[in-house]
Amino acid sequence: MKQSSQLDQLTEVLNRRGVLNFFSRYQQQDKYSKIYSLLLFDVDHFKQINDQYGHSDGDRVLQQLAKNLKSMIRNQDGFGRWGGEEFILLCPGTNLEQALKVAEKIRLMISEHNFELEPSKQVTVSIGISINKLSTPIEVAIERADKNLYAAKANGRNRVHYEVEKH
Ligand code: GH3
Ligand code: MG
Ligand code: MG
Repeated sequence: MKQSSQLDQLTEVLNRRGVLNFFSRYQQQDKYSKIYSLLLFDVDHFKQINDQYGHSDGDRVLQQLAKNLKSMIRNQDGFGRWGGEEFILLCPGTNLEQALKVAEKIRLMISEHNFELEPSKQVTVSIGISINKLSTPIEVAIERADKNLYAAKANGRNRVHYEVEKH
């Protein structure tokens, strides 16, 4: 049982503190995986959902989204609500090819899920990915993923984005 101080009250997944805690344990204890992937999700046009259906339906969308995501991730992964309508998935030992597969599977699942809004409405997420060395601080990994998330939004939303960084 996770401490409630590390869980998000609305969605019952890890909150920001819980994610940071998961990450520091992973970074200290995992001697085998040399890399980790970080996926940052943001619900598309969530403000419109709140505006059209009301805040409590908005809350329900976040709860269902978190529940669905939780059911899709592997035991070794860390998943939480990073804030607002943003979620984070940390996948130890996962390379780009695998991360793209996971992200695409999640994107598709959300876009096909019936959130039981009345009138019905498709809910989508945009996803930014970063691939990081075990030693890379989570803040850096998030910043990289966030750039890609921004590009996913700019490219039309409901999509996954990853770009190799130029040095
Ligand atoms: P984009 O596709 O660019 O991400 O557009 P967006 O509307 O999703 O982004 P924006 O940042 O403009 O709006 C996010 C909204 O999420 C605004 C805020 O009121 C809402 N929000 C944040 N936390 C919660 C919450 O716990 N419950 C509900 N119902 N809404 C929330
Ligand atoms: Mg946002
Ligand atoms: Mg959003």
